[in-house]
This record gives sequence, structure tokens and C-alpha cells, in this order.
Amino acid sequence: MNVLDILIENLSKLPGIGRKSASRIAYYILKTDRSFADVLADNLKDVKNKIRTCSICGNYTETDPCNICTDPGRDRHSICVVETPKDILTIEATNEYHGLYHVLSGALSPIDGIGPKDLKIKELIGRVSEHDIREIIIATNPTIEGETTAQYIAEILKNLKSTAITLTRLALGIPVGGDLEYTDRLTLARAIQGRNRL
Ligand SMILES: [Zn+2]
Repeated sequence: MNVLDILIENLSKLPGIGRKSASRIAYYILKTDRSFADVLADNLKDVKNKIRTCSICGNYTETDPCNICTDPGRDRHSICVVETPKDILTIEATNEYHGLYHVLSGALSPIDGIGPKDLKIKELIGRVSEHDIREIIIATNPTIEGETTAQYIAEILKNLKSTAITLTRLALGIPVGGDLEYTDRLTLARAIQGRNRL
């Protein structure tokens, strides 16, 4: 194997990149400016060297605590619980949520041997106990693992505080531009359960 083959091999390990795309990217890098390849190489090293997880919320960050945890403009009474740091980026892009986050680092999955101790649940409880948290939005994925995790956390939080914390789960329903006829039964059932007043 020459270096080009090795590059293609490595690129094809990236999520969503098949062998064909990997070759296309490798040939593009070969053909393009040297400076681009240099910047890209430095970039790859930098993210591994400089990005760490925020000690409060678990978000990826260059500074600890992260920008969201230290932002005085954010609602400090609200925590949105997500599975991964990438989910924070997705929710931030909506511009609909202005509170804090908590990354669990995965979801409960007995089959894969992932139990409550493998997730940052204890840390979440710590934050809720120590700070004046009034709302918790559980934004785990709508998968069996995500649902199990949401229920598990909800149970713990309900038993934890006598004072009322508003506990919510992201509404699930029909995608924008979707069609009732082609919506699966479970999604439609959820959409009916989570219907909104007009
Ligand atoms: Zn943070």
C-alpha cells in the first residue's frame, strides 16, 4: 500500500464516507493547493489537542467551562439533557432554546452493557441539587435507548426534589413537509399524544 492507498483507507473509516467518496476526497487533496492540505492537517491535530469536554456540562470546548456555561445571558434555571455534544450544536442551530445543557455521553443500553453508571447522570443530579434549576428538558433521541434513558432520569428527578421542577421531553411528531398517510403509526400516535392547543 502506498500513502495514497492508506489515506483512502483511513478516510473511508469516517462516518458516512464510503470507499468512492474517500477516493474522491483523497484525489481532491492531491490536486489542490499544498496550503490547504497543511491547514487541514494542522486542523485535525488541533481539534484533538485543544478541544476537551466542559467540566460542567460535557460540551466540547477549548476553554473550561464552555461558552454556554459561562454566558451570563443564558437562562441558568433551565437544563436541556442531551446524549452527545453534537446534539447541543443541533439544538443551538434552532435558536429556540437559551438555557444550559447537560451531555449524558450516550444512552442506557443493557444489550451493549451501558448502564446508569456509564452516563453522566450523577453529575446531572449534582447540578440539579446544587443550583436553582426550575426546568429540565430531556432531549435524548427517540430510540428505545433514548426513551429508556429519558424515563430513568425522569424517575430519579421526580424522587429527588420536593420543589417542583418542570420536567419535559421533546415533542415527537410528524416531520415538517411530511404526509399523514406515510407517517409510521408510532410517530403518528406520539404526535396525537403531544398535540398542541391552537
Ligand atoms: Zn459547559
